[in-house]
Amino acid sequence: ALGPEADPVRTTCPYCGVGCGVLARPDGQGGASVAGDPAHPANHGRLCSKGSTLGETLSLDDRVLHPAIAGRRVGWDEALDAVADGLRRTAEAHGPESVAFYLSGQLLTEDYYVANKLAKGFIGTPHVDTNSRLCMSSAVAAHRRAFGSDTVPGCYEDLDEADLLVLVGSNTAWCHPILFRRMLDARTKRGTKIVVIDPRRTQTGEEADLFLGLRPGTDTALFSGLLVHLSDHGALDARYIADHTAGFEPALERARQIAPDAAATARATGLGEAEVGTFFALFRATPRVVTAFSQGVNQSAQGTDKANAIINCHLATGRIGTPGTGPFSLTGQPNAMGGREVGGLANMLAAHMHFAPEEVDLVRRFWSAPRIITGEGLKAVPLFEAIERGKIKALWVMGTNPAVSMPRADRVRAALGRLDTFVVSEVAAGTDTVRARNAIVLPALAWGEKDGTVTNSERRITRQRTFLKAPGEARADWWILAQVGRRLGHAKQFAWPTVAAVFREHAALSEFENRGSRDFDIGGLADLSDAAYEAAAPVQWPLTRKAKAGERRLFASGGFYTRDRRARFVAVQKPALADATSDAFPLRLNTGRVRDHWHTLTRTGKSPRLSAHRAVPFVEIHPDDAARAGVADGDLARVRTPHGAAVLEVTVTPGAQAGMLFAPMHWSEANTSDGRVGALAQGAADPVSGQPELKATPASLTPE
Ligand code: SF4
Repeated sequence: ALGPEADPVRTTCPYCGVGCGVLARPDGQGGASVAGDPAHPANHGRLCSKGSTLGETLSLDDRVLHPAIAGRRVGWDEALDAVADGLRRTAEAHGPESVAFYLSGQLLTEDYYVANKLAKGFIGTPHVDTNSRLCMSSAVAAHRRAFGSDTVPGCYEDLDEADLLVLVGSNTAWCHPILFRRMLDARTKRGTKIVVIDPRRTQTGEEADLFLGLRPGTDTALFSGLLVHLSDHGALDARYIADHTAGFEPALERARQIAPDAAATARATGLGEAEVGTFFALFRATPRVVTAFSQGVNQSAQGTDKANAIINCHLATGRIGTPGTGPFSLTGQPNAMGGREVGGLANMLAAHMHFAPEEVDLVRRFWSAPRIITGEGLKAVPLFEAIERGKIKALWVMGTNPAVSMPRADRVRAALGRLDTFVVSEVAAGTDTVRARNAIVLPALAWGEKDGTVTNSERRITRQRTFLKAPGEARADWWILAQVGRRLGHAKQFAWPTVAAVFREHAALSEFENRGSRDFDIGGLADLSDAAYEAAAPVQWPLTRKAKAGERRLFASGGFYTRDRRARFVAVQKPALADATSDAFPLRLNTGRVRDHWHTLTRTGKSPRLSAHRAVPFVEIHPDDAARAGVADGDLARVRTPHGAAVLEVTVTPGAQAGMLFAPMHWSEANTSDGRVGALAQGAADPVSGQPELKATPASLTPE
């Protein structure tokens, strides 16, 4: 019914966690033009380079269009029977914990909800993890340690209303571009100062009023020094600390041991004492401060401590939950939070609940679940190690490409060969994961075809809507999962007629016996009719049944989700990188993203304009290191780590810190022979969050 004259469809950009509203106008021939949605509160009509070229990425080239088993096209019934049989046989022969799911921040919340319910309630395996483990699980863990819940305290308007924006480990200009434009607008309108803290002088660093190019892994020293400075200069909010927090003194004592003053902070971080002093004074003197952090903080073997060191400074000054203040996790993926909300991480159960006996019992009763799990499962890195060891024998991967994106990706790819049952729900036929071995491949709906909700970095739930016909035999992920649930004997519990019905169940669970002990409560959406769901406007959670609107900000007056309702300061560990450099590997490899590409290129690789930005895999190196290695701009070089090697085009730039390399993670065997950067990363996991280190692997570089 959609044609050239149709009204534009309101939907959400499928790339980053900013969650921009998009108006899509289908052309009636399988394509569409897109524009920013002026009514969406995240972007007010703007789109970045990736969002504005979405129309160029809609072709059916390289699409999975039909179910297949080991390369043989089959019908849906045969494919679904094979999936159900494979999961059942594996669970019966080796126990339910021999089955695992690896999900994705690309999934819609409803897809995530059904996958989590099937695995944790009905198959009885706790091993459900997601590529969000590589993205922001350290922020989740830090929120839980500090607030008792995974709650982002603020909203995007705080970026407009801050007088100081501190960006830590975040190339916001490239990776969250629309938010960065809001920050630049704040600078124009109210003189907001921007401080960028990053070992790499990125585009964001170039725009900063103050750039602090600290040594990798030393963020906790910088924020420990800041906490001491705030204490020593009478800048604490003693009332907030006394009324709403616990653990301040031990945290301050630990901070003093790590960085007792500006001089010690400078030594620990490699920064100049004067620039450290300037940053401390700016933070101290500016009541409205937002500290936004991203992968440079999270993708670290000490990521949780880094985030807590930041949060400590905000709690100590009461700069949280009021306009223009707060720590703010900038999340990578489009469904930045939906997966967390349903419990789609190995250390969560459902609806922001974990594994207290009463929580397990509550979810068991709500789901009528015969095999509810009672404890945490394996997080991404150990999950793939368990496949390698033959402990996990059946794996269902949905909407992600771990054979490229996981650290030590070559081992991950090889491990897939050990599985008895390997299921991949995918859109793109040529990914390294699909090609890794003979799998049961299920054609999933892509952006524009699928329908559901996502939640962005400011807790805002927005609809993704259908505006294109499903191609071939592609189906919604939630539908596929529900069909398997029914085949496993649970027809009643997997009987949703529509995606709206899945959402209603998810919302109902969030309020089920929730007596204010959980932050995530969207009971106000539990009774939406199908029509109301279809028309639903973006809304922030929490949104209880009694509330008239979602909460923009939390915690200005305490009310944390710990047992005593007080936030916790965290005494963080002294900074230390997981692996030392050596004569063989004297440099450190930092991995990340470029402005115009997304993940492993399955969508952005289809746009000639986006591909023109950086067409081939490359490595950035400081001029001194380049001279030492004997390479020049444009040369090819081999980057080696103890885990693998890649051949990359050299970019010599003073923006790279001496001793550091930077290489983007997008390219795979599917689109380059030697550019698999994920294969090089060490991936030492943070002890709290399990998030792997992707920013500081010891490496060498030689001319090719
Ligand atoms: Fe899409 Fe993120 Fe760009 Fe917004 S900022 S248009 S969500 S990629």
